[in-house]
Amino acid sequence: MKHKDPVPVDVTSTFYECPTCGSLLDGPAFADGRQACPVCGATVAGGAQRRVFPTDRLRRLDSRIRRYHEDGENEIVVILAAAFLEAILEDIIDRILISHGADLPVRRAVLDAQRAIGGRISKLFPQLTGHEFEDVAAELGFRDFPRRWRDMREARNAFIHDSPFHGAKESIDPRMASQAMQLLDQAYQLFVLMTNRFVADGRSRETA
Ligand SMILES: [Zn+2]
Repeated sequence: MKHKDPVPVDVTSTFYECPTCGSLLDGPAFADGRQACPVCGATVAGGAQRRVFPTDRLRRLDSRIRRYHEDGENEIVVILAAAFLEAILEDIIDRILISHGADLPVRRAVLDAQRAIGGRISKLFPQLTGHEFEDVAAELGFRDFPRRWRDMREARNAFIHDSPFHGAKESIDPRMASQAMQLLDQAYQLFVLMTNRFVADGRSRETA
């Protein structure tokens, strides 16, 4: 049986990837190839569709999180939003690796070697970009994002893990769920800006 979606929620923007330089841009003219990439000038042959960001899989997850938020399922909202942000960060890191010329086995090895989200933010990201995640976020206009993201992970961990050190939490505050929704919205813009800075940048370095 096909799953019925009772609430058509799709408030997120769609961004389209330039296959040549990796820039993510919005706008219908760019999407179907009528407009050349404003960064590198490449066009899409035959009006073919460009690869989209976020992917359909992330978009479906986004819709489900919004439904859970409407239903007041604070714990599920925070757990899924945290998973969502981690998936987006992995996507960005993977795009940065590709821009450095890494092939699939290398990308897999690098991401496997650093599974923990904290390490990906504090070690992998600076190693690949030469910048601290917090500094880049602040520079792009999202200064509070890393701290609020960390707070959300801590709330999730306190709920999920039965920690003898910090004490387990039986529930998650509705304010934290609202904060998770704000982070979700900001994540799209922030990660597109980060991709355009480090992915398009990396590929133009390659060809320079
Ligand atoms: Zn381009």
